[in-house]
Amino acid sequence: MSEQKVPVYFAGLRARKPKESKIKKIEALFASAGFAEIVRKDALAAVKLHFGERGNDTFINPVFVRTVVDLLKAAGGKPFLTDSNTLYNGSRHNAVDHLTTALEHGFAYATVGAPLIIADGLNGESFSSVPIHKNHFREVKIADAVTGAHCMMVLSHFKGHEMAGFGGAIKNLAMGCSPSQGKCEQHSSGFSITRERCIACGMCMAHCPQSAISWDKREGKRAASIDKDKCVGCGECLTVCEPKAVTIDWGSELRPLIERIAEYAYGAIAEKKGRVGFINFLMNITPDCDCVAWSDSPLVPDIGILASRDPVALDAACCSLVNQQTGLANSHLKCHHAPGEDKFKGAWKHTVGEWLLTYAEAIGLGNPAYELISI
Ligand code: SF4
Ligand code: SF4
Repeated sequence: MSEQKVPVYFAGLRARKPKESKIKKIEALFASAGFAEIVRKDALAAVKLHFGERGNDTFINPVFVRTVVDLLKAAGGKPFLTDSNTLYNGSRHNAVDHLTTALEHGFAYATVGAPLIIADGLNGESFSSVPIHKNHFREVKIADAVTGAHCMMVLSHFKGHEMAGFGGAIKNLAMGCSPSQGKCEQHSSGFSITRERCIACGMCMAHCPQSAISWDKREGKRAASIDKDKCVGCGECLTVCEPKAVTIDWGSELRPLIERIAEYAYGAIAEKKGRVGFINFLMNITPDCDCVAWSDSPLVPDIGILASRDPVALDAACCSLVNQQTGLANSHLKCHHAPGEDKFKGAWKHTVGEWLLTYAEAIGLGNPAYELISI
């Protein structure tokens, strides 16, 4: 690990007067992190965020997004909000559904002050290849609105993730900036369904983007079954299967999956050195990504808002702050409630979120050694 520590700026959430509002805190974080320096005059400034799946309500508040948009405009940029279409069949699978969902969630021009552009086009066809020459990929596929932007502010709701352990700035860059083909390349193979556990609810079939799941009616029992030739390993079936009938070979699949995510994140900003800023919101720290069509109760109390120029330092700081908390009762935490224990592992026992940080550092995405500076 590098000796040099990267500044990560932190604002807690307590407030007793107007100048302590979250909007004022975002302004102060933006200034402290020097984000105005990433913007040149008239630059097309992508604000990468997640608009939230329909049914989810823990995406970043549009009022906070408006604050960042106003700051980018004041710095001379021309901001636009962007995200890429999903692989799975949900409410953001193509640009029309995606924009409709974003508007339903409050990301209208009147609120956010910037246009919305779906990063990878109508059906995920707009992307460019970016050379990275790493272990898994020589080049990665990145959505055109990301590659075409001069600079980028990456706003991430920091929370858990069933496969990656946690979802923050790195995952927002990786999955969030890639088209369907890029998402497929990152995902995993090796999903299967345990017949004895399947209650034939059909949820996995409804969410599978590949129509890779069908009924197997052997031995007088109806159970779902995955066609391995059609499966692209997106993991949607794993997320929606309540009886945990869908499984993955965690031992051999997890580490390569996490490494591919880190390499894609590297590619998303490879051509924007010094022109990207990151803000993570440690609020509503749910066990799942905002791609799910619900919002579970949080694992730990709200913590604050953090900003940095380094996505690895930022995510490392967020993980540490989450783990310092006492886990909340009546949450998805099954163990690891005590301060200092790994909360995301307490929610998803197979995942090892730390691998994302160590591999991201190894490939040069950033530095997990940070200095937390309270503003
Ligand atoms: S979601 Fe799970 S329980 Fe339901 S049909 Fe699919 S594998 Fe079976
Ligand atoms: S992991 Fe495979 S089977 Fe499961 S939803 Fe994705 S494509 Fe379908």
